[in-house]
Amino acid sequence: MAFRDVIGHRRLVSLLSQAIRRLSLTPSLILSGPDGVGKRLTAVSIAQELNCLTMDDAGACGECAVCRRIARGAHPDVMTIEPGENGSIKIEQVRAAIERAVFRPFEGRRRVTVIEQADALMMGAQNALLKTLEEPLPASVFVLVTSRPDTLLPTVRSRCAHLRFGRLQVAEVAAALERSESYSHADALTAAAASDGSVRRALDLEADAFADARSDAENLLHVAGRDPRTRLEQAKNLLKGSGTPAAEREHLGARLTAMTSLMRDAGLVASGADAQLLANLDRKAIVDSLARALGVDRIGRIFAAVARAEDALERNVSPKVIADWLAINVH
Ligand SMILES: [Zn+2]
Repeated sequence: MAFRDVIGHRRLVSLLSQAIRRLSLTPSLILSGPDGVGKRLTAVSIAQELNCLTMDDAGACGECAVCRRIARGAHPDVMTIEPGENGSIKIEQVRAAIERAVFRPFEGRRRVTVIEQADALMMGAQNALLKTLEEPLPASVFVLVTSRPDTLLPTVRSRCAHLRFGRLQVAEVAAALERSESYSHADALTAAAASDGSVRRALDLEADAFADARSDAENLLHVAGRDPRTRLEQAKNLLKGSGTPAAEREHLGARLTAMTSLMRDAGLVASGADAQLLANLDRKAIVDSLARALGVDRIGRIFAAVARAEDALERNVSPKVIADWLAINVH
């Protein structure tokens, strides 16, 4: 996974790539941003870009012996530190990494130490790291990866170049799922639709359950202009009908989330936005038809009604009452 293979984040990757080419990469970096968007893969790619044997104009090859060993975590000059069993990174782990980093690289050109979940660094470990960040070791780079950069000491943050990763686009999440998880194109798009721009989230969610919830949401939205009786009948599908109260609430909650997502997309289409921005990219035809049938004003009203229904669900109002109220108000 060299820079050429990183999905999304083109601006950040291009900045890093230029710095590496000009030999001006800062010796300490923070890569921050949401979980599951590719921060760790980018950190590993930095090690490859610095050490690849067969660089070309596009950067590291990702395929030579060095690139492959770095990807496997088996290169002597590339070290990863991560939290231990108790969930924290101890001072001993950081000291051991610094001791190794003092020596010239064994094989490569630059030593790279990646600290994963750097927010788990204990205070003592951060202080131990600070001295090295203040007086960088020659030929050594530290990359701190975290979704919570604010938990790092201000003194640590101020010694590092800070690169902030955003969420991925739906099509980018789908591309990542297709490539590394062997999803079919259709499955990848469905999983990506509810991923909120995070590959990890797409992998965690149950795609089938999501598809069911969205299908119920679509059916209610399709009858939005019809008579109240039809809408009330259709709204019954938002309810599970059996199961624990918690399961009932979760069932309805998933359908409300899907309605919000569909209405947001329909609003984007109605206002002429780029299709690449749609969360429900795999249901573009449905989103288009909803946008045409409902129009901007009604989409706005339904969006607000669903938001109120979600609030009511939070306040423990009964799912049945919420579904009926929504049926009346989706008009
Ligand atoms: Zn290579």
